[in-house]
Parts: sequence; C-alpha cells; structure tokens
Amino acid sequence: MTSKEKGILIVLSGPSGVGKGTVCKALRQCAPELIYSVSATTREPRQGEVDGVNYFFKTREQFQKLIEEDQMLEWAEYVGNYYGTPRKFVEDTLNAGNDIILEIEVQGALKVKQKFPEGVFIFLLPPSMDELENRIVGRGTESEESIRNRMSVAMDEIRLMEHYDYAIVNDRVENACSRIQSIIVSEHCRKERVVNKIKQWMAEVN
Ligand code: 5GP
Repeated sequence: MTSKEKGILIVLSGPSGVGKGTVCKALRQCAPELIYSVSATTREPRQGEVDGVNYFFKTREQFQKLIEEDQMLEWAEYVGNYYGTPRKFVEDTLNAGNDIILEIEVQGALKVKQKFPEGVFIFLLPPSMDELENRIVGRGTESEESIRNRMSVAMDEIRLMEHYDYAIVNDRVENACSRIQSIIVSEHCRKERVVNKIKQWMAEVN
C-alpha cells in the first residue's frame, strides 16, 4: 500500500503593514486547495469578521488556558493582544497529506520554525520602505509616534529575514500570489520530500 506523503507547512510572514492578510485572502481565491489555519486571538472582531472563519475570538482567560493546555503551536503578543495558531488542526492537516498555510507575524513564525524546521518560510517584503510607511499611514488609525514605532519595528523584523527560505516583494497582490504558488510547486518537487516514496518503491521491487 502506498502511504500518502505528509503535507507541507507554509508560513507567510513579514512586517506589519506589508499586506500579508490581503495576499492570503487573494490566495484563498487562486489556490483553493490550500488549507488555511484559522488563528485564535483576544482582539475584538472587526466589522464583518466571523468567529471560526477569520479568527477564533477568545477572552484573555480562554487564551491563557489554551496556552497552559499546550494547545497552541505558537503564540505571540502583538499590539496588546494575543494571537496564536491552534496546534491540532495544523498537525491533523499535515498528517492527512494536505498543505496548510499560516499567516502570522514574525516572532510567531520563528517559533514555528523551531518546531517545524522542515516547513517553508516565506517572507513578504514591501516594494520600498516609503511604500510601507504609506501603507501604515494609509490605515489612518495611527498617531505619528505610533507610525515611527511601527516603522522601527518593521526594520527590526526585516532584519530577521535571514531565517526564512524565500523572500517575495509584494508589489502587486496577484504577483505575490503566483510567486507563492510557484514556491509550493517547487517545494513538492524537492527530492527530500519524495525520498520516502522512492524507498517504498525500491522495497516493493526487491
Ligand atoms: P490583525 O489584528 O490585523 O488581524 O493581525 C495582526 C497581526 O497578527 C498580523 O501581523 C497577523 O499576521 C498576525 N497574526 C495573525 N494570526 C496570528 C497567529 O496565529 N500567530 C501570530 N504569531 N501572529 C498572528
């Protein structure tokens, strides 16, 4: 009997304001076969967000309990709220042979890398730092001090790019999506990922 290869864990990360959420949303359209990990968060739902679809919305107490029960693959505090990836769904998806994508901030991504070094880590870059500032300012929700802070955090985060496997410039969402799809196709062709299958063939022939 041929056992199915495990799925690939893909982590899409990058500095705040780079457009990770937008790219991930577009990927849901152009790569519907990819499974998306729904994170848990303690932040308030935004208009139109649905519990269990965009996030699992939790109280701080509920989130703390999930951490204590070791139900989180990773978690991080970001702008005063907790965000984290439920572990079981990721593990079940991979074991069933399906690929899964996590859209998370940089600290969380590095924690995932410690647990899943075989994952594929993609860093999303802005076309330029000016463009990143425009995007942060464009949200219209940040004070001048907060913009300066976010830009300095973004610089620190970009320095962590060396821990990633791929870097993609988010010049246009559709370009970013097709580059991510190409990466996934290439990763499936890596000889390391098919080696078990080949070993099985060899055993069957001998
Ligand atoms: P937002 O509040 O705008 O939805 O997300 C804020 C930040 O949290 C984004 O950078 C997003 O990528 C990140 N994020 C979302 N889910 C998770 C998660 O499960 N873990 C971590 N570490 N970050 C997350």
